[in-house]
Amino acid sequence: MSKPVILTGIRSNEEPTLANYLGAFLPMVNMQREFAGDYQINMFVPDLHSFTTPIDHSALYRNTLNNLKYFIAAGLDLNNPDTYIYRQSYIPAHSELTWILDCFTYVGEMSRMTQFKEKSAEHSESVTVGLFNYPVLMAADILLYDTEYVPVGEDQFQHLEITRDIAERFNNKFGEVFTIPENTKAQMSFIHRDKGLRIRSLTDPTKKMSKSSSDEKSKILLTDDPEGARKKIMSATTDSIGVINFDWETQPGITSLLQILSYLSGRTQDEVNAEWVGKDRYGEFKTAVADAVANFLSDFQAKLAEISDEVLLAKLEVSERAMSEVANATLHRAQVAVGLRPKEA
Ligand code: ATP
Ligand code: MG
Repeated sequence: MSKPVILTGIRSNEEPTLANYLGAFLPMVNMQREFAGDYQINMFVPDLHSFTTPIDHSALYRNTLNNLKYFIAAGLDLNNPDTYIYRQSYIPAHSELTWILDCFTYVGEMSRMTQFKEKSAEHSESVTVGLFNYPVLMAADILLYDTEYVPVGEDQFQHLEITRDIAERFNNKFGEVFTIPENTKAQMSFIHRDKGLRIRSLTDPTKKMSKSSSDEKSKILLTDDPEGARKKIMSATTDSIGVINFDWETQPGITSLLQILSYLSGRTQDEVNAEWVGKDRYGEFKTAVADAVANFLSDFQAKLAEISDEVLLAKLEVSERAMSEVANATLHRAQVAVGLRPKEA
C-alpha cells in the first residue's frame, strides 16, 4: 500500500534570512526526519506561483535552484527514498487540472479569499487573473497527489478549505475522483509546528525580521559574509535597562538575541537563559551571539558551496518523472469524470 502523502511547497523568491532558516527551513528538514519512513513527503517548488505578482523573471530559474540548495544545506536529505522534490512547472498536469477545477469553482467563493483582497490592495496597479486564481492552482497541487497533509501557516487555511470544498463538490458530482485533504484542525495537530518563532528585526526589535526589508542592517542574509553579519549583531538595537532578561515586552531586542543563540547553539532556551539572564555585560553577550551567527554562516556557506547543480538536477529529474506518473493518473481520472476521456471498460 502506498504511504500517506504530506505535501509542502518551497518558495523560490528573494534571498532568505536567518529568520527564514530558523522559522521555515529547519522545521521542514525536521519534518523529513520525523515523518519519512511512514509517509511520502512531496516537497515541490511552486514556480508557477512565483509571478502572481511582478518579479524579475531573469532571476527566476536560478533562484529556484538556489533556494533548493538552501534547504539541502540546512540538512534536507536528497537520498531519502520517501522524499520527492520537484518543480511544479515541470509537471504540466498542475496547469491542466487547474483549468478543469476552475470550471467547478465559483467567482463568489474566490472573491472571499482574504489573501487576494490584501495582495490586490498592495499591488493595485496590476492585479492579475493569476493572483485571483492561484488558490485553484494550489488545489491542483494538493489534489494531484492524493495528499492528506499540507503543513501550512494560518495565512493558507482559507486556501486549504477551498481545496476541500472544490474536491468535495467534484466528488459529489462525479464519484470518488479526489482524496480530500484533512481539515485545518487535523493538519495543525498532525504537524506540531514551531508556530511561535518570530525572530525580530535587528534594528527595530518590535518588528519581525523580513527578507523584503530594505534596511540591510535589520536582517542577516544566509549569504552575508560572516564578518559583516558579526557587525550587524554587535550593532543590534537593544535597550537601556542594562540587565539581560528574557522578556518580549520590555526587552524584545535582547530576548530575540537570546532566542537566536539558543537555536544556533543547539541548547534549550532555559540553558541559554541560565547562562546570561541577570548579567549586565551586553557587549560580552552580543559577542557570544555574533560568534554563533558567524560560525553558523561559515558552516552553512561551506555546505552550500559543496552542492552541485548536477546532483540537484539529477534528483529533480528522477522525482519529476515519478511524480508526473502520479499526477497524470489523477488528471486522467478527472478527465474521464468530466467526459474528456472515455471510461475504461
Ligand atoms: P517577506 O518580507 O517577503 O514577507 P519573509 O522574511 O517574511 O519575507 P516569507 O516568504 O513571508 O518570509 O515566509 C517564508 C517562511 O519564513 C515562512 O514559513 C515564515 O513563517 C518564515 N518566517 C518569516 N519571517 C520569520 C521570522 N521573523 N521568524 C521566524 N520565521 C519567519
Ligand atoms: Mg512574510
